[in-house]
Amino acid sequence: CSSTAKSYNITLLPGDGIGPEVISVAKNVLNLVGSIQGIEFKFNEMPIGGAAMDLSGVSLPEETLTAAKQSDAVLLGAIGRYKWDKMERHDLKADTSLLHLRGGLKVFANLRPVLVLPQLVDSSTLKKEVVEGVDLMIIRELTGDIYFGKPKGYGTDENGNEIGFNTEVYAAYEIDRVARIAFETARKRSGKLCSIDKANVLEASMFWRKRVIAISVEYPDVELSHMFVDNAAMQLVRNPKQFDTIVTNNIFGDILSDEASMITGSIGMLPSASLAASGPGLFEPIHGSAPDIAGQDKANPLATILSAAMLLKHGLGEKKAADRIELAVLNTLDRGFRTSDIYSLGNKLVGCKEMGEQVLKSLD
Ligand code: ATP
Ligand code: MG
Repeated sequence: CSSTAKSYNITLLPGDGIGPEVISVAKNVLNLVGSIQGIEFKFNEMPIGGAAMDLSGVSLPEETLTAAKQSDAVLLGAIGRYKWDKMERHDLKADTSLLHLRGGLKVFANLRPVLVLPQLVDSSTLKKEVVEGVDLMIIRELTGDIYFGKPKGYGTDENGNEIGFNTEVYAAYEIDRVARIAFETARKRSGKLCSIDKANVLEASMFWRKRVIAISVEYPDVELSHMFVDNAAMQLVRNPKQFDTIVTNNIFGDILSDEASMITGSIGMLPSASLAASGPGLFEPIHGSAPDIAGQDKANPLATILSAAMLLKHGLGEKKAADRIELAVLNTLDRGFRTSDIYSLGNKLVGCKEMGEQVLKSLD
């Protein structure tokens, strides 16, 4: 019980599909941990994605972005609906609201912890010996690379062949700032950082490696290594325990983090944090809106609850409250509660709401 209660403004973006279900659970968890730790949360719930489309015809309304920018941190559920997926690509406005939200918040470093909990070792499709004890952090650059580089488009080459093209571009400042986040993160973990690139063939990757090495002189206590992305893809499933902190560019990070998520078994367990140089961070589960199970109280809310823990730790510097949430999640799993995505025989099968209730119980 603290006398001077701290207060934070949190923008909640429930979004589509299971988004509202998991956000509602995570909100309750934040409220309870707040009351235990003497922290007040003022929630501002705003529409995004298909849900916003229904209300106003745009997937990222101006007011939503403004509210997000003005808050201390943003917690997002998920974006995307079948309804929109069936539309023509150029009509698919709900699909780009996440890119615009990230751009608007200027988040450039995406942190994805890949942690195999002892209680869920059997959920992985990989062998127990391989996944047991895996605890790594993937840091993906979010603003540069082949997604945004110019020239891009369609055209015709000198022989009259039709072509499509994109360009990988990285500015030194983009690499430097994400590298610093990676070194800082590695320093707080086991002190090992692996930078993943394709510097044997790509100039943008050679430049990436050169900048990472340049920044490494600021962190003599961190052991830096480099790996080519093709080898890294293999090593991640062969022996993931050799990694601690990984830093990589936008496209390799996209692919490697999806690959790494399978080490842990369920996409319903994995949180993420996207951080900016200043201003609020964006915190969200790595899963999508899961329309196949939406509205059925089946979603695993733990990825969003763990994203709320990342929000406390990385977004607000409230490490104690974050640790409390993580412990409560472990305790809930210890007591045998499982949603269907992580269920195995002998455990207690529960829905989204009940899982949330059990985490609240573990918090108390
Ligand atoms: P997006 O394009 O929005 O990323 P996606 O097509 O990649 O979406 P998801 O929405 O993440 O896919 O769903 C993939 C599968 O994982 C679905 O079968 C879904 O039911 C399941 N899934 C996703 N999130 C959860 C969760 N929190 N709990 C249980 N199952 C989930
Ligand atoms: Mg997806």
